[in-house]
Amino acid sequence: MLALTELERSLHRHLVDGGNLGGLGPALGMSQKEASLLYTGMCDLLGSPRNPAALVAICYATGAVQPPELLDPSGIALPQEERDLLLLFAIGLGAADMAAQLDRKQWKVNEQAKEVLDNLQAKTRAQAVHVAWQYGIVTGPAIREWLETGDPAGTEPTAPLSGLGPVLYIQMREGEVADTPRALCAARGPAEAMALLAYWDQAADDRDARGALWARASEVLSRSGRPVGQPVQGVHPARQSDTMRRQRCRVCFGHARLEIPGKPGYLYLVTDNERRPQGGYRTTEPPVCIDHALVCADSEPRLQSGHTALLVTSSTESGVLGTRYVPLGDSANVAAVSDSQGFHPYADRERMRWVLASELVRDLTAYKIIDLRRLIRTTFPTPSAPASRRPFATA
Ligand SMILES: [Zn+2]
Repeated sequence: MLALTELERSLHRHLVDGGNLGGLGPALGMSQKEASLLYTGMCDLLGSPRNPAALVAICYATGAVQPPELLDPSGIALPQEERDLLLLFAIGLGAADMAAQLDRKQWKVNEQAKEVLDNLQAKTRAQAVHVAWQYGIVTGPAIREWLETGDPAGTEPTAPLSGLGPVLYIQMREGEVADTPRALCAARGPAEAMALLAYWDQAADDRDARGALWARASEVLSRSGRPVGQPVQGVHPARQSDTMRRQRCRVCFGHARLEIPGKPGYLYLVTDNERRPQGGYRTTEPPVCIDHALVCADSEPRLQSGHTALLVTSSTESGVLGTRYVPLGDSANVAAVSDSQGFHPYADRERMRWVLASELVRDLTAYKIIDLRRLIRTTFPTPSAPASRRPFATA
């Protein structure tokens, strides 16, 4: 095992604490030139590329620095596409190489790289690698294999923890709170002939375009507007309805419309429970983009006892899943009819006046059943693409 000097260990600590190379000299109490010589010498000693994130990982993988204690991996909720980046950070790849390796657009990789730092509350990629090590996302065996063979084990996107499935954009997160039913009342607006369910402090966006009143819940978002935090039971009403209305991807909120020549459509993964006796499917589960189709099919709990992949060409917003309320006597107070949620069609305007909506329901009326793996194999060939296929790679 390599023994590092006290200065080299301090250098490592500086990187792990989120310091950058520019601040290395002052941090170590030496000139910047001396610091930079120390850094390059340390990289050469450990066989690391001149990349701080790789240096941090190699110090841990070789035991040159005692690796940090591991933390409970369920303490971190990170989308798979961001996890994939961390190992690539740890082998010192730049954005263009990461984009090529993952077969993603470089702008998307840059965006996701920023997200991953946000989500791990890391200032630098080196610090992110340190945090990822603690959560078992970057591991010793993967880094040692890379040092020996030039290829890290596990740069194939790894399956998420079994039973949990991917973290969904629409899921409620820890810290997000549903509004109290006490905020509801029976009201009569100026234009309303009859009383209806409302909020005491109603805002314009509490109702959708068709008049349904929507459940409120707070949101915990990162600066870039993405939900963060550990997923908890249930879906967020505003995120579910927005995703379903716009038919965006349930995992990443990206576009879920597949532009397959001759058969464009939205990709939905449905179960037999959602099949309607009169044909078609009725679902509250938004579609999925091509990047997340397989990870959902393979690991989303609701799909694990069987599912069908549909390329949907026509669908309608048929109603909402929600709770029905009744006015209490002549007062403005209201009470829920039952604890359970039911389907309420938009067409039944009378009923809809007393419903608090929590999920948007879509009826899938025209679709083609597809073989998902075959579709992906034939239409969207994956990685290991030759350099000529990398439109964003730099020379
Ligand atoms: Zn997606």
